[in-house]
Amino acid sequence: MERVDIKSLSLSQLTEYVKDLGLKSFNAKQIYIWLHQKNVHSFDEMTNISKQAREQLANECDIVNLEIAQKQVSKDGTIKYLYRLPDGNCIESVLMRYEHGNTICVSSQVGCRMGCKFCASTQGGKVRDLATSEILSQLYATEEDTGDRISNIVLMGIGEPLDNFDNVIRFIEIITSKDGKNISQRNISLSTCGIVPKIYELAQLKLGITLSISLHATTNEARKRTMPVTNAYPLEQLMKACRDYTKITGRRISFEYAMIKGENDTQEDAVRLSKLLSGFINHVNLIPVNPVDGSPFSQSDARIIKEFQSKLAQLNVNATIRRRLGQDISAACGQLRNEHR
Ligand code: SF4
Repeated sequence: MERVDIKSLSLSQLTEYVKDLGLKSFNAKQIYIWLHQKNVHSFDEMTNISKQAREQLANECDIVNLEIAQKQVSKDGTIKYLYRLPDGNCIESVLMRYEHGNTICVSSQVGCRMGCKFCASTQGGKVRDLATSEILSQLYATEEDTGDRISNIVLMGIGEPLDNFDNVIRFIEIITSKDGKNISQRNISLSTCGIVPKIYELAQLKLGITLSISLHATTNEARKRTMPVTNAYPLEQLMKACRDYTKITGRRISFEYAMIKGENDTQEDAVRLSKLLSGFINHVNLIPVNPVDGSPFSQSDARIIKEFQSKLAQLNVNATIRRRLGQDISAACGQLRNEHR
């Protein structure tokens, strides 16, 4: 019989499951609190559950936990983890410390099939989706390792979250539940390269999270050169989906724009970007792109980035140049895993 990944079950799924086992429904809430608030690693630690029930659970279920394969600590307190999954694959998570609290950047897949040309995570393609338990455990393991509480989450690590839709949505359900870590939806950002049908599917859920769009170019031709997803969903469709998302959810969208030398950083790009974003209550993060082994792209000069930001300001677009934490350890996202592979 296939073993049950118990940490991936929502409270309602867990309640059904324990009832099927002949346990009481209140046992589900107890188990859920042990797994998601107290982060226990074994059923033996669930001391308010009967010994017989614990044995029954241990016979049928696994509690997924991650192992630290490698850890890099920056002078500014940023920590990059390479976590080993139960099947031996590795993924990355990054803990960043801001004044408003600790933020974790989590991975949603092993590898990625989106093929963005400036990204190390996609070199080698997608291996598999992460289970909900594996996304949750990145936060739990990081809190356990540091002893610090994490209050903010960005789904911006390895993988395209909307390409692992159901597991990511259940992750959000569990991490925000009051019997779990009780993290506010408003403290969660989900970043996508722009899978249009999934943006509509997400909109229908009317979550309070922030949707962040990785835009990175202002014409379809330029975007196709760096982001193959544009072949399936050109900018016109993507921007319409963003407008519709805002209408349906009432939530602001944030846009990410990687500054790539000679590729997307001209003053004309700034003008086109302001036109693309007109009508949004928008915010753009300008991100100096990280150098990646095997990629022809390098980051724009600091002066060019400043001029780009000034041009946007003249055009009434609010843009921030992303402060790069962990510069001294900063392998680009996915690079640590690649070295390990
Ligand atoms: S930038 Fe994101 S969507 Fe694009 S290849 Fe990298 S992980 Fe995948």
